[in-house]
Amino acid sequence: NSSPAVADLDASKLIFTPNLNPKSVPAPNSPEVWSQNYTTDHMLTARWTEQSGWEAPEIRPYGPLSIMPTASVLHYATECFEGLKAYRGADGKARLFRPDRNARRFLQSATRISLPGFPPEEFLKLLKKFVGTEAPKWIPEPGQFIYIRPTMIATAPALGVQKPREALLYIMMVLFPPLDEPSPAAAVPKSLPAPSTQTPTQETKRPAAGMRLLASSHDMIRAWPGGFGNAKVGANYGPSLVAQGEARSRGYDQILWLFGDECFVTEAGGSNFFVLWKTPEGRLELVTAPLGDGVILEGVTRASVLDLVRRTRPDIDVVERKFTMQELLKAADEGRLLEAFGAGTAFFIAPCSDIHFRGVDLVLPLGKGVLADFAMGIKKTLKDIMYGNEQHEWGVVV
Ligand code: PMP
Repeated sequence: NSSPAVADLDASKLIFTPNLNPKSVPAPNSPEVWSQNYTTDHMLTARWTEQSGWEAPEIRPYGPLSIMPTASVLHYATECFEGLKAYRGADGKARLFRPDRNARRFLQSATRISLPGFPPEEFLKLLKKFVGTEAPKWIPEPGQFIYIRPTMIATAPALGVQKPREALLYIMMVLFPPLDEPSPAAAVPKSLPAPSTQTPTQETKRPAAGMRLLASSHDMIRAWPGGFGNAKVGANYGPSLVAQGEARSRGYDQILWLFGDECFVTEAGGSNFFVLWKTPEGRLELVTAPLGDGVILEGVTRASVLDLVRRTRPDIDVVERKFTMQELLKAADEGRLLEAFGAGTAFFIAPCSDIHFRGVDLVLPLGKGVLADFAMGIKKTLKDIMYGNEQHEWGVVV
C-alpha cells in the first residue's frame, strides 16, 4: 500500500495558544447573554485533509474563520453540529451531562454527510480539555452553565459536488440564557423564544406559562423516512425556519412537527416530544415517537427521560411508538391526557400548555391551572445529576 499514513484525531497532540486580549464576563441575564452571540475567549479547532488526516488540534483565540467562497459547506450544506452544556455544581466541580452520547451522535451526523470520522473518545478528551480551559472564568459560580457547540464543516475550495476532501472541526462556547427558568422580563428581547418567561415578582420557579405549539401543515415536513432527520446536520434546520417564523408570528413558541396523512406526532421544535396519558384500559403510559426510520433525532435528554422513568416508575408503561394527533385529541376528549412536554438541551424539560391543530385548540391540563408535576419531577432529578447534587455516572466531571 503506497498511500501515506493518514493520522487519526489525537487529543494528546493538542496545542494551546492563549488569547492575549481576553473579554469581560457579562452579568447573568444581561442582554449579552440573551444575544446568544457572546462567546468565550477561545475556540478549539482541528483541521482534516483527505491526504494527511487529522492535524494537531489547537485551542486558540476565538475569532473569524477563513474559508474560500467556493468552500463546500457554503454550497452543499456539508455541515453537522452538536449542542450540550457544561454545568458548575454545588461542589464547585464542572460537569458535562452524558457527553459520550454527543460524541457518538456527532460522529454519526458527520458520517451521514461524508465528513471525516474520528474516534469519539478522542473528541471527548478534547471537549473536556476545552471545557477545563474555559470553565474557571466563564462559569465560576455554582448553578451556572454554558452552552457548547461542536461543529464540523467541509472546507475544500473545489466547487464540484463531491465528497469532502478538507474539513474543519471546531468547538466554541456561547453564553446561553436559562430558557427553562423564570427570567426578569426586561432581559428578554421580544424576538427571542421564551416559553417560560415570568415577571421577577413571581417567586415560584415553576414556569407560569407552558410551551405553546403550532402543529405543522402538510407542506412543511421536517423529516421523512429514509431522510436525515436523525442526524444533527444544518440542512435540517434552515428549512424549518419558515414554519418556525409562522409559529412565532401567530403567538406560538415552537412547531409540533407532524408527519404523513395520519398526522404522526414526531418532535417539537428542536426537542423530542413526550405525552403522559392514561390508556383506555386505565394504565399510565409515557409515549414518544420511535427511532429507527430517520425521522427522529435521538436526543440525549430523550434517552435520559426514558431511562429514568423505566428505572424509577414501575407504575408507568414507557412506550416508544408512532402515535397520531387523532389519538392525542381523543385522549384529551376522554379526559385521559395528563401532560405533554418537550425534552432537549436548550429548553430542557418544557411542559406544553397548548397545541393548535387545524383550527382546533387543544388545551393541556397545565394550561387549565393543573401543574405539570410529572415533567417537573423529571426535570429536578436530571438537574440534580447535572449540578452534582446527586452523584451519578451521567454527570461527568471535567
Ligand atoms: N430534536 C431535534 C430536532 C433537536 O435539534 C434536538 C436538539 N439537539 C433535540 C431533538 C434534543 O436533543 P438533545 O436532548 O440531545 O438536546
